[in-house]
Order: sequence, then structure tokens, then C-alpha cells
Amino acid sequence: MGDIVLNTEKTDIKFMKEAIRQAKKAYKLDETPIGCVIVHDGKVIARGYNRRNTDKSPLAHAEITAIRKASRKLGDWRLEECTLYVTLEPCQMCAGAIVQSRIPRVVIGCMNPKAGCAGSVLNLLQVERFNHQAEIETGVLEDECSGLMKQFFKELRERKKREKESGCPADEPGTEV
Ligand SMILES: [Zn+2]
Repeated sequence: MGDIVLNTEKTDIKFMKEAIRQAKKAYKLDETPIGCVIVHDGKVIARGYNRRNTDKSPLAHAEITAIRKASRKLGDWRLEECTLYVTLEPCQMCAGAIVQSRIPRVVIGCMNPKAGCAGSVLNLLQVERFNHQAEIETGVLEDECSGLMKQFFKELRERKKREKESGCPADEPGTEV
């Protein structure tokens, strides 16, 4: 039993690292750094990262992109044997998509007290009255995931301050997540 727990932990860390790699792609685009991977049969079958500003779409969240790709890959809208790894607690839209796609397990890096819907504001992943609930694992590589967010917003504040001082406003990436 102990071995199984240890192996799950190891696996979760390995795939959360992949999700963090995706989050860094968002970071490079000046997007809030959120990344996601979906794992099936021990392999990453889909990846996604936040592209909300880049794509000018409120739907361009990491999880939605990854869910779309995973469904295409498996040829099924049901992702019943998949695990979703995401660096930040999913919002209401993504939590809804997780329930809709029947993903049984969600692994989260850091929580989002202001907007998270896997236990913070709401817990849409575990509403008894819906026909599907997902198991939730939180705090996997939490420091790394939240560190990335903190660094991003720190740089954003500094940049805005500099722009304000120089009187030269540049493009504004979204600040909320
Ligand atoms: Zn979302």
C-alpha cells in the first residue's frame, strides 16, 4: 500500500512538471502562467497553456485546450480513464468541462482563493447532485506553481509602474485568472 501511494506521488510530480513546462510557454507570451496536461495510460496525450490574450478568447484556458486535444486524440468526448494535471485550481468553466468530459482525477498545483472552483470559491468537481464527480489531489509542486504566478504578477506590476512613469502605456495582459 505504501509503495502504491509513493508511486502515485512520484507520477503526480513527474506530470505536474510537464504542466509547469506548459505554464512557462504562457509566461513567455505574457500570459498568466497556467499549464495543463492530460495523461492516459501513463502517457501525456494532450497539453495546453493559457492563451487568453493571445487568442483574444475567454475560452482559451489551459484545461479547455488540453481537453479538446485529448478528446480528439482518443476519438471520444469521454475522458474516463484520464488524469488532468493543472498548475492552478480550475475556474468554473474548466471545472465544468472536467465534469462534462468525465475526467475521474484532477491533480492541482496551487489553489486560487479568488476564482478556483475545485474547493476555493466552489467545488464544482464534487457536487453530489451531478452525475459525475472527480477525485482531487492538491498541492503537488505547489511552491513551484505559485512561485511562477507570483513572479509573473511581480514583473507585471513593475512593468506597469515603469510605463506609468515613462507615460508610455503598452499592451495590458490580463491580470485576473
Ligand atoms: Zn479555466
